[in-house]
Amino acid sequence: MAQASISVTESQFRCPICLDILRDPVSIPCGHTYCMACVNNYWDQAEPPGRLSCPQCRESFSPRPVLRRNTVLAEVVDKLRLSEMVGDFMIFSCNILCIIIPVI
Ligand SMILES: [Zn+2]
Ligand SMILES: [Zn+2]
Repeated sequence: MAQASISVTESQFRCPICLDILRDPVSIPCGHTYCMACVNNYWDQAEPPGRLSCPQCRESFSPRPVLRRNTVLAEVVDKLRLSEMVGDFMIFSCNILCIIIPVI
């Protein structure tokens, strides 16, 4: 049960541009959330220049919205990233144990 709720949460906190867990999450005026760097890059490469739109819903913005870090979300994704690292570590240590145990 707990695991299922984590995976749902995790996919919600992934950036649709880099597909990684959000870093410095910012919400743009349409309500979609991206990493600060990803959405800035996306808009810097917008064609034609100055035509800024949401990569997901295509809503366009003019002038360029001021991006503010979503601090509440930032805390959540920081914890999420930490738990993901802990998860990797547990898998890693399990691999070691699984190798060691048959030897013993
Ligand atoms: Zn991103
Ligand atoms: Zn959008």
